[in-house]
Amino acid sequence: AIPLVVAINTSLAARNGMLVRDRIAMEEARNLDAIIFDKTGTLTEGEHGVVDMVTVDGVAEDEALALAAAVESDSEHMIARAIREAAEQRDLTAPDATDFEAIKGRGVRASVDGNEVYVGGPNLLTQLDSEVPNHLQRFADEAGQNAQTVVYLVRERELVAAFAMADVIREESYAVVDALHDLGIEVAMLTGDSQDVANAVANELNIDTVFAEVLPEDKDKKVQELQDEGKLVGMVGDGVNDAPALMRADVGIAIGSGTDVAVQSADVILVQNNPMDVVRLVKLSRASYRKMQ
Ligand code: ADP
Ligand code: MG
Repeated sequence: AIPLVVAINTSLAARNGMLVRDRIAMEEARNLDAIIFDKTGTLTEGEHGVVDMVTVDGVAEDEALALAAAVESDSEHMIARAIREAAEQRDLTAPDATDFEAIKGRGVRASVDGNEVYVGGPNLLTQLDSEVPNHLQRFADEAGQNAQTVVYLVRERELVAAFAMADVIREESYAVVDALHDLGIEVAMLTGDSQDVANAVANELNIDTVFAEVLPEDKDKKVQELQDEGKLVGMVGDGVNDAPALMRADVGIAIGSGTDVAVQSADVILVQNNPMDVVRLVKLSRASYRKMQ
């Protein structure tokens, strides 16, 4: 039988837009020492727009953008959407691409006109062992300092262009971090994005702990790292990539338009896409279980 106080508690949660899949996690939420947030789409809007680009000698901007859009034509990632949109805005027609492949946490690959073409972030460059020309490196450094995400276009192993994309911090995120600090909870951020971008967002929001350039298969290890310090850890995320971390966490929280996989891996689902509900969840847990004692 479900103890009465827990039943009341979960229906109260439901009325606040929280679906509780695991009642024990709901009780544990009051004792969380640290909460890790996925960056993109959780603390930020996640609506990347291409704000700047640079190419190597002999490659025109339009050519590079059309090629990148072709490689991204099969991807659902927000970065892919932004690149396709930028190409559309310039009325560019993407060349035909085939043999699409998503490279988890790194980027995408396709064949275009017999060439092997990639679009992806710093993790991809490491994997391909691509050399970065000086002016592209300067472009990337500057963009990173402005919290812009940089992705690269690589054709036949040669880096030919870089794109800077802007994301914006969600207005609610500032108050969320402050409120969690007031509750004595450490706030951490976990992202596949570059260290530069992660640091810029973390400084702006006053976030205590930053895990950047984390590959999807390593995200749960970051949760474990904090748990190994003896902390009870909550994890907030929305993507397929976040599922193992949500499962590893003591309290896994899927947010908003979370993917099915994220939702199925979470203990609590926040129906409205509002990170402030994480604070409400902790407060509700503390209030409910204090009464019970
Ligand atoms: P997160 O959810 O933390 O943003 P992802 O695992 O979705 O992380 O992506 C990590 C990084 O991999 C991105 O910042 C980007 O550099 C690269 N990436 C992933 N998918 C794509 C894509 N479709 N096009 C370009 N780059 C991508
Ligand atoms: Mg994500």
